[in-house]
Amino acid sequence: VRVDFITFMNQVIDRFEMNLDEESNITLERQLPEGPFFVWIDRDKMTQVLDNIISNAIKYSPGGGIVGFKAAKLRQQLMVSISDQGIGIDYDKTDKIFERFYRTDKARTRKLGGTGLGLAISKEIVEAHYGRIWAESELGKGTTIHFALPLMNAKRRDK
Ligand code: ATP
Ligand code: MG
Repeated sequence: VRVDFITFMNQVIDRFEMNLDEESNITLERQLPEGPFFVWIDRDKMTQVLDNIISNAIKYSPGGGIVGFKAAKLRQQLMVSISDQGIGIDYDKTDKIFERFYRTDKARTRKLGGTGLGLAISKEIVEAHYGRIWAESELGKGTTIHFALPLMNAKRRDK
């Protein structure tokens, strides 16, 4: 369906905000523009993508910190990023985390639950929406997951 991604993202973030436990020391910080930015998405699938990324950001931030949300229009694309101040990922592993069952050593040794499928599924879903997803990270500093989705053009917007 046609969705204003900003409204949609705010709804997903609201749900995380309501369920945040205080011990996590996580603050959700939105830097989202007004919109509307219309995209054509499967709501349930895209919810799964955001859920995966946000729960990772929280899970891999054992010391808490800010989880930040940004979105912007770049030509005919909507650029979204979700950043954390957590454990980070080795610079040469930022592509691998999108592979099925891949988990970094830190994730394993810290015995954080998970199967290593979340991002692989997210990538499949984003690409099925003709989008791209990638990670930028610095070990010990934090991680940003970026994804881009094609924006609907003015003609299709009226349908
Ligand atoms: P699942 O999501 O299936 O429960 P998972 O979280 O281990 O398990 P993915 O979400 O696919 O699996 O992430 C793969 C791996 O990438 C993680 O195990 C972790 O090592 C690393 N990773 C993902 N997101 C982050 C992040 N925000 N900060 C640090 N490491 C991350
Ligand atoms: Mg995960």
